[in-house]
This record gives sequence, structure tokens and C-alpha cells, in this order.
Amino acid sequence: MRRKLAAGNWKMNGTSQSLDDLQTLSKSHPNPSVDLLICPPATLIAPAVQTLGNSAIHIGGQDCHHQTDGAHTGDISAAMLRDAGATAVILGHSERRASHHETSESVRDKARTAQRAGLMTVICLGESLGQRQATNTLDIIGAQLSLSVPDSSTGENLVVAYEPIWAIGSGMTPTPDQIGEVHDFMRSRLERRFGPGVGRSVRLLYGGSVKAANAQEIFDISNVDGALVGGASLTADDFTPIINALE
Ligand code: 13P
Repeated sequence: MRRKLAAGNWKMNGTSQSLDDLQTLSKSHPNPSVDLLICPPATLIAPAVQTLGNSAIHIGGQDCHHQTDGAHTGDISAAMLRDAGATAVILGHSERRASHHETSESVRDKARTAQRAGLMTVICLGESLGQRQATNTLDIIGAQLSLSVPDSSTGENLVVAYEPIWAIGSGMTPTPDQIGEVHDFMRSRLERRFGPGVGRSVRLLYGGSVKAANAQEIFDISNVDGALVGGASLTADDFTPIINALE
């Protein structure tokens, strides 16, 4: 009942040349049986939307401000993302929590504003290696989930991505049992808070060193509805086998 989702987070990578890869991706997936979302840097959102035309690939932002407009130099509002053609936004990525001091409360405020603007919000959660080694993972994920996800969330406007900080860009991944434990936990927390209807329709992505070689094993885990992919989403060659594993 939940449509699978393959999402690419390009982070601070990509110039207009990267649009060629988007075109390749859209040609090789003319009628994808899974949802495809690419989140390029802000400078490429409007050109990417234009390049893709009426392709089924969705384009998203990587952050937005919690206020709707005003004196916030360098920031981007949810309405601006919509105006540029984005339909989604990643919020609370651990890189932003770390380098921009984002808290779960500020992520929730951003998500509320983004959902009001009609964007699907991909809210990221994840523990550090120290927290995992101290067996605090579920406590950390539980707190981040309850504080970062706004009450206005529905099965359509919320996606949650579990991204262990130590797995991002490291080549390391949790075991399937460890991923399954966190995803089952997030599912039960969402069902308890939003009721079974909404709780069961929110898509849960895994992120952190997803590659062609491990994608199938990860997608076979219960309550994994897709992936949020960094490095391996930058080229059509690397991303295509991951999408295929989900289809
Ligand atoms: P990598 O796939 O490069 O590990 O990055 C994951 C990530 O941070 C996606 O948001």
C-alpha cells in the first residue's frame, strides 16, 4: 500500500552539467513503478524541473526556513521551493543538525511551514556511533522522531529517513537486524501517535552508504520503503541499479 521511494540527496554537489544525468535517469525510467525524488542544490532546482519537463521524477530542496518570508539573508522559503517547481524538501539532515546547529524543535518548525506550503517533508533522524555503542539508539531515534515531526503530518506529506550518522559516506552500514529494529520502532511510534491509518502510510527510508551492492538486502527489510541516497545518487549509472532493486 505504500509506494516505494528512491530519493537522491546531491548535497553540495552538481552544476548545470549534472542535468545530463537527470535526463538520462528520466529516459531510463519513463514510467517508474516507484517514486523518484532528486534533491539537487538550490541553484539547480528550477533548471532541473525545466530539464525534466513532464517526467515522473520529483525535484526537492535540501532545506528551507521555518518562516514564510522576510529578512533572512541566504535562506530559502518553502514557497520559493514550490515556486521553483519542487514538490518536496529534506529537513533535519545530520549534516545540517551538526554544522547549522539545527535542533529537532527547529526541524519541526521548518517541517510545519513546508507542509503548509504543500511540500512533502523528508525528515532525517539518526544516531552517532557513540550513541549506538552506548545502546542509546532507540532512545535517540524516539526523541528525534517525536520532536522533529509536526502534528500536521499525514501519510502524504511526511517521509521519515533513518540515517545513522556513522553510516553516511563511510561505507559502513548497520546490520539488517539493526535497520529492521529501528524501522519497526519508528513504525510503531508513528502508529501510536497518529493512529494506524496515517502511521502505516508514512514511508520510512534508510540512508547511509546505500549502493548497488547492498540495496536489495536493505530493501528486503520490513518497514524499509526505500532509500535516501547521497554519493550513489550523483550519477545515473550509480543510481539506476538502486532504483531497479526497489522496482
Ligand atoms: P551516502 O549515501 O553518501 O552515505 O549519504 C547518505 C545521506 O546522507 C543521504 O542523505
